[in-house]
Amino acid sequence: MHVIYGGTFDPVHHGHLRLALEVSERLGNVPVSLVPCHIPPHRGQTGATAAQRLRLLELAIAGEPRLCIDDRELRREGASYTADTLRQLRSELGADVPLVMIVGTDAFAGFDRWKEWRQISGLAHIIVVRRPGSELDPAGEPARLLAERGVYSEADGVKALGGKVSGRILELDPPWLDISATGIRERIGSGRSPRYLMPDVVWAEIQRMGLYGACPVKNF
Ligand code: ATP
Repeated sequence: MHVIYGGTFDPVHHGHLRLALEVSERLGNVPVSLVPCHIPPHRGQTGATAAQRLRLLELAIAGEPRLCIDDRELRREGASYTADTLRQLRSELGADVPLVMIVGTDAFAGFDRWKEWRQISGLAHIIVVRRPGSELDPAGEPARLLAERGVYSEADGVKALGGKVSGRILELDPPWLDISATGIRERIGSGRSPRYLMPDVVWAEIQRMGLYGACPVKNF
């Protein structure tokens, strides 16, 4: 089974890392690949560059064998489209390996605006992780897709995916840490500490590089 978890990771935080680990465990300790996406220039102004986000991710997952990084979207020119990534992975993995993509309900709520969204749900399984405070519009396309293809099992995610390689949507409800990268950037920008919201090594590197308006300092 190949599991990917995409995001801007600007910066990566404990919410992302805990979620990746929880999902890994529910799928029998399979590795989860974190896939940082390309950020359009208009969004990147206050954030970090691709290389900096990647550096922070590397520091964050060091020593955790169940987490790895797939930087293919950063290496591609221009916008990152999940459909392209999944097609590329499918051709590398062959036809028999289940391919799984993790998204939070906040991201899944806008799924019908993703390029080739209908094809995506055929190219991979989707794990939708419930984000408190972020509900699907019951009349919208994502909710309809979930009703059509959704399965639910807290106990055995692999069994719920039914031995298929793609096409199911598994809803999971692991503990959700109330942390967002936006909140972290705002905190740093206004001179407050984001400590304990992310690994210390990540915060130290943010300060060293002076990202998000952090003042470069030597100690916490
Ligand atoms: P931003 O605040 O900049 O939008 P974010 O913290 O929401 O960032 P993203 O990189 O945009 O993080 O999100 C990538 C994925 O991680 C999405 O599927 C999102 O649902 C999920 N995610 C975001 N925050 C958390 C969290 N606290 N716990 C678990 N998953 C999260």
